[in-house]
Amino acid sequence: MFDLIIKNANIIDGTGMPSFTGDIAVDDGIIVNRGKDLGDAKTIVDAKGLSLVPGFIDSHTHYDAQLTWDPWANPSPKLGVTTIIIGNCGFTIAPCKAEHRELTIKNLTNVEGMSLDALKKGINWSFETFPEYLNFLEDRGVGPNVAAYIGHSSVRVYVMGEEALTRKANNDEIIEMENIIKEGMIKGGLGFATSTFEGHNGENGVPMPSRLADKTEMQSLIKAMSSFGRGIFMLTRGSNTSIDNIQEWMKGSNRPAVVAALLHNPLSDNSTFNILSDITKAADKGNEIWGQVSCRPLSMEFTMKSPYLFEGIKNWKPAMECPTDELYRKVLADNGFRKNLLNEIEDEAQVRLFNGDWDKIIVREVTNKKFIDLEGLSIKDIAKQNNINPLDWLLNHSLTEDGMDTLFIAMLLNSDEEAVGRLLKHPRSNITLSDAGAHLTFFNDAGYGLYMLEKWVRENNLMSKEKAIYNLTGKQADIYRIDQRGRLVPGQYADMMLIDFDKVGVSKTYRVNDLPGGSSRLNIDGHGIHSVWINGEKVFNENSIIDNKNLPGKVLRGFHA
Ligand SMILES: [Zn+2]
Repeated sequence: MFDLIIKNANIIDGTGMPSFTGDIAVDDGIIVNRGKDLGDAKTIVDAKGLSLVPGFIDSHTHYDAQLTWDPWANPSPKLGVTTIIIGNCGFTIAPCKAEHRELTIKNLTNVEGMSLDALKKGINWSFETFPEYLNFLEDRGVGPNVAAYIGHSSVRVYVMGEEALTRKANNDEIIEMENIIKEGMIKGGLGFATSTFEGHNGENGVPMPSRLADKTEMQSLIKAMSSFGRGIFMLTRGSNTSIDNIQEWMKGSNRPAVVAALLHNPLSDNSTFNILSDITKAADKGNEIWGQVSCRPLSMEFTMKSPYLFEGIKNWKPAMECPTDELYRKVLADNGFRKNLLNEIEDEAQVRLFNGDWDKIIVREVTNKKFIDLEGLSIKDIAKQNNINPLDWLLNHSLTEDGMDTLFIAMLLNSDEEAVGRLLKHPRSNITLSDAGAHLTFFNDAGYGLYMLEKWVRENNLMSKEKAIYNLTGKQADIYRIDQRGRLVPGQYADMMLIDFDKVGVSKTYRVNDLPGGSSRLNIDGHGIHSVWINGEKVFNENSIIDNKNLPGKVLRGFHA
């Protein structure tokens, strides 16, 4: 007698093979058989008309902090995600000494758009080292399965203190960092994650610690990661980090690398494809590199109090560095500041989040009713009506009463469907980049997997169901060396979901106030999901999360070579 049999399902098994109608039997959380007439079970589900697929493996999340107060990593499991990878870009909360907690929280607030108040009230600091963090998650329990990178910026602050934000590391410090990484890998780290991206800044615009690392430090730390023949090197690249640089850093490590964030930029049409061809050339030489791409248009909500989209622009720095509101307003009003900013925005040679596409920034909601007629208009149109430069309009508006509270939405990157379609189909692409757990006030792409099926399979026919599911499950397990997950074949863990392919998709995002201390975040719902199982345990049923006392997820520690 098995624990569970799902009968008559259209099985799309995550291998990319053609789907077929059949049954799957689960015992003790493991898929033990598949075929027809498998016998008896305690629970039998008739899945006629529905598709059974592996749960999604979301390889780019930032749930590191949230997991300490929300073991479920909401909303990912209700969107079909059964395994999450945390620590991306190297922004983690372990290791962290008590005296660096404040600094870590402030940096996360800025770089990943997390509420300061929520982090302060929410984070449970029952750990100091990376192995202690994994133990804490394991002892307390997790909803989905969790794999964790060792994060460069955290390791740097742990070893160098505040100086991690201002200088290169010396030899002794590099050796200490190597030891922390080796220890982390022995205790179950997925790999080593870092960032050289110019848009990644901590409090007051100070570059995140990993951005100050030199070549020797990068080489040494990657080598430390690979000491035991395991580990993924994850990098969010800045414009000065080429694929050649990455290969040089990784020389001799013989490990795979994943590079974020390859988003299509309409003003620099070829740049992302050029990176993918460099990645292909590297792969042809035997250096396994993958490009993390996204299937979602990148839209962000923001106010001028903290306009994340400007932070990759060098001439925005004076504004970012202002310690008080009053000084911030002074800088925004300054003509010289505006002129430098405008020159840089209009320089089309740069690749960054915002490229002067003012028609893509829309007024979403005003606080001051005087401006109610602006809602729904683009900054380009408003500026045209007022015969003023769009940047000047935006900065002038932010200096009016309540202008800093006006909510904008920016449709920045990845909105050209033809180009995004080509990115998704590229053989070196890794479809991911939900950034779930971060930027919660700007966007929420945790439902990227369902969106991929809705938008790119059902509506656009870009690829077959089987291929899309493979990309979101089996291929993820392969790239990240995750054992026994990502496919519905005997011997694998029963991470599965039952969906109605004709209805599958996501809702629009909507705002809720449920973070610790009542801070707001954007939430999103899925459509067409009937059930989700994690390690054989049902966690979601017919559009509602089961109030589950058990936390069925596992902290993943064993990864293959
Ligand atoms: Zn990230």
